[in-house]
Amino acid sequence: MVLDRACANPHITVIVPAFNEEAAIHLTLENIANQLNQLSPNWDIVVIDDGSRDRTAQIVRNMPPFLNTTLVRFSRNFGKEYAISAGLEYATGDIVVCMDADGQHSSDLVSDMLAQWRQGYDMVYAVRNDRAVESRFKRWGSRLFYRAISLGGQIHIPRDAGDFRLMDRKVVDALRALPERNRFMKGMYAWVGYKSIGIPYTPLPRLHGESAFSRLRLMSLAWTGITSFSVIPLRLASAVGGILALLAFIYGMTVVVDKLFLHESIPGWPTTIASIMFFSGVQLLFIGILGEYLARIYDEVKGRPPYIVAEVTSPQKAQSEPTE
Ligand code: UDP
Ligand code: MG
Repeated sequence: MVLDRACANPHITVIVPAFNEEAAIHLTLENIANQLNQLSPNWDIVVIDDGSRDRTAQIVRNMPPFLNTTLVRFSRNFGKEYAISAGLEYATGDIVVCMDADGQHSSDLVSDMLAQWRQGYDMVYAVRNDRAVESRFKRWGSRLFYRAISLGGQIHIPRDAGDFRLMDRKVVDALRALPERNRFMKGMYAWVGYKSIGIPYTPLPRLHGESAFSRLRLMSLAWTGITSFSVIPLRLASAVGGILALLAFIYGMTVVVDKLFLHESIPGWPTTIASIMFFSGVQLLFIGILGEYLARIYDEVKGRPPYIVAEVTSPQKAQSEPTE
């Protein structure tokens, strides 16, 4: 069924990944519901509790029915990328909007996103324009990341766009059809394509607590992104290996020439040691990079499900319903 976007009242599903958000989740869901009430008569919310160790799941389970909130609870913490993937599975709307549980994503923006959807855009992503207030580590890190991933040239990931976005059903179905277990959503949104547009926004302060993404976790996510969406590290390894081999060959030739024609004695011990150490370092580094790709392949061939759902609680029944 094709909706006439200009006049239709699309069913909107908002998916909300939540990890230890007991202090913020209630208010966030109320804000979202208030906004959705103004936008469409048909809407619902799906909260994915990503293995929270606090009362998040309990709070969501007991939400009043008029908040139309379904709880999908993971058996443990799988990470935000997987929570979003599950949200896309459980979302039934013609339109799906992904928003954080900590109140950083202003629900006011959803009406602007919807306006763009009505103009014919299939994906409308929020682009944060506040990078100046972030730490130097995050700013430089993100710059390096976008530069590295764009070297691969296969996909264009818009800068400073995160998971806060509106997607048409087409986009959601395309994302659901991607079978990979190493899920890097930013890359996957870009990979599926469709007519997309960014709109600027400034994230609000967190309602409570701190970001779950430490420096180490951000670096690990960036590395997953690069190894999932680019073969640049492998190409780089080949290029450096090639250049070093060429240099070594030239050096070898000069040694032979010296020996044969100039009859110079070669002291050489320090150079030998230095070059052995240098070349073994480079080799180990590149074996490590190969190992990273191998690990990703291993993850994929194991064929495990990307996450395990322990409970789904729909708003009508408001009772726990284990799925296994
Ligand atoms: N989140 C999640 N699983 C995790 C970590 C975070 O579902 O393992 C959720 C979190 O509850 C929030 C969103 O992902 O709704 C963004 O997380 P956070 O606010 O910690 O990150 P930041 O705002 O720094 O990107
Ligand atoms: Mg946040």
